[in-house]
Amino acid sequence: MAPARKMAGFVSTKFLPRMNPMSRRQRLLSQLPEKQNDAVATATPELPPFDYSPPPYSGPSADEILAKRKQYLSPSIFHLYKTPVNIVEGKRQYLYDDKGGEILDAFGGIATVCCGHCHPDVVEAIVNQTKRLQHSTVLYLNHAVADFAEALASKLPGDLKVVFFTNSGTEANELAILMARLYTGCHDVISLRNSYHGNAAGTMGATAQSIWKFNVVQTGVHHAVNPDPYRGIFGSDGEKYARDVQDIINFGTSGNVAAFISEAIQGVGGIIELAPGYLPAVYSSIKNAGGLCIADEVQAGFGRTGSHFWGFEAHGVVPDIVTMAKGIGNGIPLGAVVTTPEIAQVLVRRNYFNTFGGNPVCTAAGLAVLRVIEKEKLQENAFVVGSYLKERLSALKDKYESIGDVRGRGMILGVELVNDRELKTPAKTETLQVLDQMKELGVLIGKGGYYGNVFRITPPLCFTREDADFLVDAMDLALSRL
Ligand code: PMP
Repeated sequence: MAPARKMAGFVSTKFLPRMNPMSRRQRLLSQLPEKQNDAVATATPELPPFDYSPPPYSGPSADEILAKRKQYLSPSIFHLYKTPVNIVEGKRQYLYDDKGGEILDAFGGIATVCCGHCHPDVVEAIVNQTKRLQHSTVLYLNHAVADFAEALASKLPGDLKVVFFTNSGTEANELAILMARLYTGCHDVISLRNSYHGNAAGTMGATAQSIWKFNVVQTGVHHAVNPDPYRGIFGSDGEKYARDVQDIINFGTSGNVAAFISEAIQGVGGIIELAPGYLPAVYSSIKNAGGLCIADEVQAGFGRTGSHFWGFEAHGVVPDIVTMAKGIGNGIPLGAVVTTPEIAQVLVRRNYFNTFGGNPVCTAAGLAVLRVIEKEKLQENAFVVGSYLKERLSALKDKYESIGDVRGRGMILGVELVNDRELKTPAKTETLQVLDQMKELGVLIGKGGYYGNVFRITPPLCFTREDADFLVDAMDLALSRL
């Protein structure tokens, strides 16, 4: 066994993927069929250099944590891998496991960590605010919530200038739907099949994938045909799909609706970019039916798409309400709804209150995140590195028949695995196999899509070209083993 590399104040002989490449290679080799070992020996990718050594971890083992989770946490929580990873630390785009092993994070805590793990500016803002005042509610004045609302409003177009803070994406969408219903006096909402908007009473209704819907009453939502360029019946012809929304208005409602809600790129649904031309046509139908258009930017917002700050901007539309979460706080529980002063007015009809909404610590973090995105030009990086990554993934598609589609933009990318390119049969088992092998090689990616056969690549926006190379090389190797 190769000697462990000496780090500042810490010598380990345990699993250290970057520090001890031999152990990683041996581990991989031991999992693979004998005859294929030669190819692997020459191709095992190395993590790019990153100057950080984590302090030793002395907490409970993965097995102990797993046992506690099983005993005390909801049986509904799950983990992605055969052997779950015990993550104890994070720095920028890297994570560290309990044995000091370094892992490249290409999922970003589900498209949430945008500035990088534990970004010092964000940590400093959180610590400073926590020391001064952790909580007061918006019943009293404090500058943090007002400062962040002002900064956030400046990132939105037109009259979208009034901000409501929530604690999650679900809450943000619940509030947006509530406001639309109050403003229009209508109940009917239209959302897209294959969408994900949350898991509370209203948002579970808007969510349209059976695996995320429980058998409880979910009223007033119609689910339109998904403008999915890969699997959809009209290919990339957005206007044709849009006719279904007009049909729903004509034949499924009184002719008036409360709202249309959609993501610009479906995240949980498997990184599906809505067909071009779809949103402008639908927004026009909805406006004619007296409804409001809600853009769910929970995954695509905050510069992740690279080309724009918000996902909807790539479609040339301006929504009436924008909802956001995840990237807004780099991991701090925070969500927001931004709308026009006129629509916002509906909430004064009764009392609307949220105990933690606008919490000083969360909003101080949010402001720091926005500043880091600007200071470090993370949107530009998402564009440049994301485009390079997509190019390299597309080249993999030429190499492997099992890749049916590579899609998305910036740092919200998807790779769909199929068993047959013509029939597009979802390669669900293979997806899990590759996911697991990539973890063993030292990179985390996500999984999604209705059939569970799409890799979701949503790394922190500070991801580098070298990280992209490592990811693609690891995927290449894992795919070659199928
Ligand atoms: N909208 C979208 C597009 C999402 O991806 C999610 C979460 N995956 C939500 C809403 C709900 O957000 P949360 O989990 O913070 O409630």
